[in-house]
Amino acid sequence: LFIAFEGGEGSGKTTQSRLIAIWLRDQGYDVVQTREPGSTKVGMRLRAILLDAAERGLSARAEALLYAADRAEHVEKVIRPALQRGAVVVTDRYVDSSLAYQGAGRALEPADVSKVNAWATGGLVPHLTVLIDTPPEVGLTRLGGAADRIESEPLEFHERVRKEFRKLAAAAPERYLVVDGTLAPEEITRDIQDRTREILPD
Ligand code: C5P
Ligand code: MG
Repeated sequence: LFIAFEGGEGSGKTTQSRLIAIWLRDQGYDVVQTREPGSTKVGMRLRAILLDAAERGLSARAEALLYAADRAEHVEKVIRPALQRGAVVVTDRYVDSSLAYQGAGRALEPADVSKVNAWATGGLVPHLTVLIDTPPEVGLTRLGGAADRIESEPLEFHERVRKEFRKLAAAAPERYLVVDGTLAPEEITRDIQDRTREILPD
């Protein structure tokens, strides 16, 4: 079972994906909790380049390809092996982040970014994607300057990102859970648990 968490800066993906991983482990599941970018050896180096490059104006296509490279490595070295042995994989960000940030945010065609990523991942799609939908003003305020990209991108960038995430979710409602990121954290956790329960293997 493969579950991805998506959302903008400060939406609570990291917190919620950790809580779900703990909850699943408590029920006896073998859980691999992971994140993008940066969950492999090469991926850690790519993450450093990407977060640094965001400040320095790396070209949009190069950025999209580096994220895709990180993801290809992530899928091949971490995600697929875990799924093959029957583990539940919970990832903090996946393909949708690229469609939203590099596609809509950086004004590449999301359809092009989608093609590159379908190739990079060998077509691996999550069974469930949890979108924690949060207005950028709220998320950015929560982080209070701690996000890697706050300084480098204007609010409109984050608005485009949010819109793309919502569009992706609306296009495949059976594969998404959209939760309101302004709800209390406990309420968000409960919603995610309810939906996850429906798709858990016995
Ligand atoms: O998930 P996390 O907050 O660690 O992401 C680090 C940074 O990378 C974020 O600021 C996010 O905007 C950026 N990012 C991106 N494109 C992606 C994934 C993350 O620009 N595909
Ligand atoms: Mg995070």
